[in-house]
Amino acid sequence: MTDHRVTDHTETLQQTAWHALTLPEVRQILHTDSAGLKTDEVNDRFARFGPNSLIPPKRRGPLLRLLLQFHNVLLYIMIAAAAITAVLGHWVDTGVLLAAVIINVIIGFIQEGKAETALDSIRAMLSPHATVIRDGTRYEIDAAGLVPGDLVLLASGDRVPADIRLISVKELQVEEAALTGESLPVRKRIETALPDTLPGDRYGMAFSGTLVVYGQASGIVVATGSATELGKINRLLEDTQHLSTPLLRQIDHFGFKLAVFILAASAATFLLGTLWRNHAPAEMFMMAVALIASAIPEGLPAIMTVTLALGVQRMARRNAIIRRLPAVEALGSVTVICSDKTGTLTRNEMTVQRIVCADHTIDVSGVGYVPTGEYSIDGHTIDPAHYPALTLAIRSGVLCNDALLREKDGLWSVEGDPTEGALLILGAKNGFSNHHANTAWPRRDVIPFESQHSFMATYHHDNENEPWIFVKGAPERILDMCTTQLQQNGKQPIDIDYWQRMVSATAAKGLRLLALACKRSAPQEDSLKINDMKTGFTLLALVGIIDPPREEAVQAVAECHRAGIRVKMITGDHAETARAVGAQLAIGAGRPVLTGMEIAAMDDDTLRDIVMDVDIFARTSPEHKLRLVKALQAGGQVVAMTGDGVNDAPALKRADVGVAMGMKGTEAAKEASDMVLADDNFATIAYAVREGRVVYDNLKKFILFMLPTNGGEALVIIAAILFEFTLPLTPAQVLWINMVTVSTLGLALAFEPAERNIMNHRPRSPKEALLSGFFVWRVLMVSVLMMIGGLGLFLWEQHIGVSTETARTMAVNAIVMSEMFYLINSRHTFASVLHLEGLTGNRYVLLAIVACLLLQITYTHLPTMQSIFNSTDLTMLQWCKSIAAGLMVFCVIEIEKSVIRHTRLASVVTSA
Ligand code: ATP
Repeated sequence: MTDHRVTDHTETLQQTAWHALTLPEVRQILHTDSAGLKTDEVNDRFARFGPNSLIPPKRRGPLLRLLLQFHNVLLYIMIAAAAITAVLGHWVDTGVLLAAVIINVIIGFIQEGKAETALDSIRAMLSPHATVIRDGTRYEIDAAGLVPGDLVLLASGDRVPADIRLISVKELQVEEAALTGESLPVRKRIETALPDTLPGDRYGMAFSGTLVVYGQASGIVVATGSATELGKINRLLEDTQHLSTPLLRQIDHFGFKLAVFILAASAATFLLGTLWRNHAPAEMFMMAVALIASAIPEGLPAIMTVTLALGVQRMARRNAIIRRLPAVEALGSVTVICSDKTGTLTRNEMTVQRIVCADHTIDVSGVGYVPTGEYSIDGHTIDPAHYPALTLAIRSGVLCNDALLREKDGLWSVEGDPTEGALLILGAKNGFSNHHANTAWPRRDVIPFESQHSFMATYHHDNENEPWIFVKGAPERILDMCTTQLQQNGKQPIDIDYWQRMVSATAAKGLRLLALACKRSAPQEDSLKINDMKTGFTLLALVGIIDPPREEAVQAVAECHRAGIRVKMITGDHAETARAVGAQLAIGAGRPVLTGMEIAAMDDDTLRDIVMDVDIFARTSPEHKLRLVKALQAGGQVVAMTGDGVNDAPALKRADVGVAMGMKGTEAAKEASDMVLADDNFATIAYAVREGRVVYDNLKKFILFMLPTNGGEALVIIAAILFEFTLPLTPAQVLWINMVTVSTLGLALAFEPAERNIMNHRPRSPKEALLSGFFVWRVLMVSVLMMIGGLGLFLWEQHIGVSTETARTMAVNAIVMSEMFYLINSRHTFASVLHLEGLTGNRYVLLAIVACLLLQITYTHLPTMQSIFNSTDLTMLQWCKSIAAGLMVFCVIEIEKSVIRHTRLASVVTSA
């Protein structure tokens, strides 16, 4: 093999059959060794090979996106109407109809673009991470920064970040469905395969985009970005989102039905007018067009999408990243949140506070990650060196550990599991560091921590080359493995009763518990197996770790309770620890605690009956989560469930809102989730629920604003046709009203802040129809009010001898004024708006009203507009009359709200 710089032959790298090469060959080609690449080499290769990411999916071009905006039944109808008015020679109407279509298309195009950019930036926040070794040090980096030759570590739950030639594996199983379609996990090994083996059988390779479902491994990156197998077959990540949700689809459907209805009504009007009342077909046709123009809510789809996208963006700003849009609606109706304890409800800043040995209980001082503190017994400082069990326990905690303690500018931080970090700090307080451990007690093998078996074990040699196995884990598990305990006077038979009492007493203080034990022997075979962990260990100590609740979680739990949402804590911790932490968070007070073992012993029916009576589930493992979600759902609950591990994925998928942890969560969990918490914080879930409710509220408010606008105009036209009045609004005028009101006024509601009591009422039932009985009433009432204002003023003005043109101008102004006022009414569906916040609380509403007012002044007084729309100047008195019509609508609606609030109707209506 010629020894060129790796960057000199990119082509050759792509054609190399890595699976057929041995480790030394791979290392030689890629110029790397067991310490990984050097930083300047990484930079060099990054410049040469580019980022490790796939070329983003081909987007629809802007032209196609613009054209697709026309694909909407409502707009088709408007275009058809424009064509017919053109044939009839009504050029102004044709022009206005087409303008309305174009304005809607442009608004839709811009808004869809904004919504897509918002979602894109959110997707970027989800970029996967990779663990690499460079310059002999372990780093967590953005997977896009990997280069060929990088040494990477894989653990269960990870998404493989690039194509990797494996160099060591520990029970590694990888699910390669993304590549091969095969959903069963493949067991990997490091041996070479024949050069022409198909990707599915290249056991020595882990391919980009596949998922590690079990075990650990390390390997060398051999291909990145589009040079990977996944890149080659150009299969793109599947999480591209569609801007749609069940609610939006329901609205689309509603829009379609409405369009059919409006068409039928217009056709009927046309036929009745021509055949029954003997009007000229051309005149009746213009009436029908006016009706269509007035009744069709053409802005509906675009504004709904924007409301949703704005909600998603607000959530992202507060660390709740929505992966699937329907989750926004589901969040609004969540009735139960099942949350992990550690790190989500608690701070995950672990500190060892207490160590229980066979003869003594030792307290440890110091908080957080600063490794200073003292050991004391009954308030007297001690030197751990005089206590063999304590010293060995501290040492085993450092050795049986995968975390790293780092110091930078006097600030200490832990990389890895915080529980293990706490043990490293405990060691550092006694002068026993990682570095010390690794040189004096080299590690030969490890069984990593997995929630299912609740322990971690390592195998070492000491400086006399004697073998040792250290284990740490949940006390129940470790007690089972121990036959002896270490005392001041040496090894003695284990006193199980004593330890169980100490476990309960320490856990009841809310401390998280670990037991530490060791065995002076080598594994039965050359590597450490579960079989080596059955018996023969000596118990050294119990370690009590404090992990205080997050303050914001305490408040968020209280907020959820006020909002009628039950919060359930699901934890792998001991029942007593869970109960004590639960008490600090006001979860599960006075209710029983159920353990994983009890859940396992129950059948599904019993679990369903009992599940709502229990708020704390302790010593659970991931498979219990799935059963809990199912049991809760069977009882009619809408469930949000958190998770981080690869085994949590089924429960996250099944839950109505699966919530993955952004920081400690595995890629597998994130992939199965609907929402990712960038800060792993329970308070963020509560915030997202609140935002979910706001989005739903605003969608409802918008529809409730929009439909009467169209309804009112339609009623004016229908009444005019029925009673044979002069048409109070021409089709062009109707379209003008729609253009200025829906696009400017309606959009403001998308920015409406949360109602004050949004978290003080029970969750919305998912079965609740959007257009309830109350909705229909409100729409009809406001439509009639608008008709009374517009038509009434028109008829009155005609009666007192004003010209038809001026009366029409007043009618148009009256309707627009009504809508402006109604926009303010719509800010709160039931609550009054007659206070400062109600009138001025949403500046977008005020801005929209000002914009609309300016447009109306232009419409009325600008000569060009007068020639297009036949509008005329108005006197001050005439303006005042138009405004009074709007004010009338405003007042009646406020009276209606007040009646609803102050009578028994309130309960009927709000539950509707
Ligand atoms: P939660 O589900 O609230 O996040 P958890 O993180 O405590 O709870 P697990 O991680 O499943 O749940 O831990 C269960 C138990 O396993 C812990 O109570 C502890 O005794 C033990 N344990 C936790 N982490 C480790 C570790 N790194 N090594 C050994 N044992 C551990």
